[in-house]
Amino acid sequence: MEPNLPAATGFLADVRQDGGRTLAPVFAALGARDRWQERTGDAVLHADLVHSGTPAGARARTRGGALVFAGELYNRDELVGLLPGGASPDSDATLVAALFAVYDVHAFRLLNGRFAALIADSGRAVLATDHAGSVPLYASVAPGRVLAATEAKALRTAPRGRPLPARPVRRLPGTHQVPAGTVLDIAVATASCLPHRTWTPPLARRVMPEEEAVDAVRRTLERAVAARTGRGTPLVVLSGGIDSSTVAALAARRSTGPIDTVSMGTDEADEFPQARVVARHVGSTHRDVTIPADELLSRLPHTVWASECLDPDIVEYLLPLTALYLRLGRGGDGGRRILTGYGADIPLGGMHRESRLPQLDTAVCHDMDTFDGLNEMAPALSGVAGHWSTHPYWDRDVLDVLVSLEAGLKRRHGRDKWVLRAAMDDVLPHEVVVRPKLGVHEGSGTTSSFSRLVRDAGVPRDLVHRVKGLVVQAIFDRVVVEGRHPDEVATGAVVERVAGHVVPGTR
Ligand code: ATP
Ligand code: MG
Ligand code: MG
Ligand code: MG
Repeated sequence: MEPNLPAATGFLADVRQDGGRTLAPVFAALGARDRWQERTGDAVLHADLVHSGTPAGARARTRGGALVFAGELYNRDELVGLLPGGASPDSDATLVAALFAVYDVHAFRLLNGRFAALIADSGRAVLATDHAGSVPLYASVAPGRVLAATEAKALRTAPRGRPLPARPVRRLPGTHQVPAGTVLDIAVATASCLPHRTWTPPLARRVMPEEEAVDAVRRTLERAVAARTGRGTPLVVLSGGIDSSTVAALAARRSTGPIDTVSMGTDEADEFPQARVVARHVGSTHRDVTIPADELLSRLPHTVWASECLDPDIVEYLLPLTALYLRLGRGGDGGRRILTGYGADIPLGGMHRESRLPQLDTAVCHDMDTFDGLNEMAPALSGVAGHWSTHPYWDRDVLDVLVSLEAGLKRRHGRDKWVLRAAMDDVLPHEVVVRPKLGVHEGSGTTSSFSRLVRDAGVPRDLVHRVKGLVVQAIFDRVVVEGRHPDEVATGAVVERVAGHVVPGTR
């Protein structure tokens, strides 16, 4: 049976001319580990993979070296058609290697996927992210060696790297995050680096009749969901909101048997009744998972460990999902393939509750300009429990369509995310189609629970947000910079320490 998860979900790779090797592979993502070594010209590539049973599918030889690939492609058929002589690559890694032989770095402009890759070939190290940087990729580079990893913590003991045209990582000097939709082409001997953008958010807006826009959204989303459902039974994390209900409905239509859905709530808030309406409608095998608020907050260190995110608002979105993934456990046959409705609000401006069109488009522009580096889509978030998550709304084609629709198609007839709601009009019950947006951090009571913890430590209301940011930073320093396991970090203790600094006199 073909595996249902990508061959690899993460890697640490080391390309060096001196043959030495220093770093131990450290990842938040769970999975089997495999070490691989390959000579490429005057350098040696060492790669440690986090894999799901078939590590050979995550590496390939190129003409002058080798490639490691974490993640998966969603436009395989299209890509195979580009190869000369009816070649049929047996893995995504082999396919990318074959495209690299034809297109060199421009191969990465062709890919619609969720991946990070490294190619060591003829004195070069080529580092590539997908269009959204949805599998984060970090690098530390100096003459004679290139280190790259899908988690920053794997590079925490790397020797200091040279500056790169990439984002520096907090308190890891010389470690950088490769930007979204970017290839860094590095000469290993000199560490000189040439960046190439392979994707950028569209700035132009398309004017379309309603029906045409609705059709385009429906068609691209159907394709994105189909490309992600795999061969087993997919699991959709479902709130009953329009975004995840759409994914559940399209996945259920695709699937031969019932799909699985799961909804999380806390002892304080949930969206269980709304999720049930959708589960019943799409005929899924559904489960509610209640996570007490203290257990939820105790997962804050795990969330920062997995996402390596420093933004407290984003961490609040990711926390309930990480807590849910950890609760799912691993199951007998390894990790699950999980589909989410995450990210729909970014190109559609859903979370801004803004009805004025200029302001709505300004918000979309801003969010599309600033998503990079937040790691909202990082696979390690579900990877900490051994699962693979994938997000159809951030499919490259879906994103291109959604971002570029003129704002009046996003906000229309008094509704937010109008075009998506209209696209689902004949697929979902009316009450679901018109349900107002409720953020995952709101519906689960995450924001309010975290705020209460901070307030209980003596922090006045106007400093709560600032303290949350400092708490996230302090946790990042423990679990990423210092390499501690999140089980050793107590959220409450960090909150009290930070509160004591910010508000002298508390404790
Ligand atoms: P809307 O944005 O309109 O509320 P939504 O609830 O599907 O739709 P978000 O609230 O933006 O989307 O949440 C992002 C994603 O996180 C969801 O699409 C869903 O996959 C997941 N999610 C959100 N809330 C829950 C929940 N309570 N249980 C399980 N998964 C959830
Ligand atoms: Mg079906
Ligand atoms: Mg949403
Ligand atoms: Mg919601």
